[in-house]
Amino acid sequence: MDPSVLTTLKILLIGQSGVGKSCLLCRFTDDTFNEENSVTIGVDFKMKKITVDNNNIKLALWDTAGQERFRTLTPNYYRDGQGAILVYDVSNRDSFTCLETWINELNKYSTKSNVIKMIVGNKIDQERKVSREEGIAFAKRHQTLFIETSAKTKEGVHMAFEELVRKIINTTSLWDKIEDTNVVRCNDENIGIEPSSCYC
Ligand code: GDP
Repeated sequence: MDPSVLTTLKILLIGQSGVGKSCLLCRFTDDTFNEENSVTIGVDFKMKKITVDNNNIKLALWDTAGQERFRTLTPNYYRDGQGAILVYDVSNRDSFTCLETWINELNKYSTKSNVIKMIVGNKIDQERKVSREEGIAFAKRHQTLFIETSAKTKEGVHMAFEELVRKIINTTSLWDKIEDTNVVRCNDENIGIEPSSCYC
């Protein structure tokens, strides 16, 4: 990737209604959080420029705007996505269970065979129903990135988007390096050292 060129990447947010997709997006793009107990804010699209490892990137961030309540997204939603953030709510086991369906949909409709996936366990400020280890095991099984976040407290949010973008622009070296002490591979022995995200 030529660092002098502003590259646009399309990133998709996917997951059950209410897991916090819109809030993650608002936290990342505007540093805001909607406390309201509404089901979804219904954001559908946001742009943000970021610099990752000296690469200037324009992100086109797509949210479902509530379409997922009808159980499926249109194939068009997945078109040309280079990255996908699959979100569940760590305080809602059902949202974790149905991740399998969302990842299958993504695999079915994605027009890019090498779309980079990241599993995000959101709402870690809440009482957990899904352990970190279960999240990591799921990510390992599907060979995706993994991170836990709270859109409310901001924890992990910027890192999630940055790591996804880093992997998209740097895929070839993925298996060769661990750039951050907070980042581990899922197949490392040291999963217990409190990583913030992992490469699988
Ligand atoms: P979406 O349907 O997946 O887009 O979910 P929303 O972003 O609309 O969020 C659904 C609800 O969860 C809202 O009431 C948010 O305030 C709340 N929420 C989102 N993220 C978090 C979080 O990290 N922690 C807590 N405690 N609540 C959150």
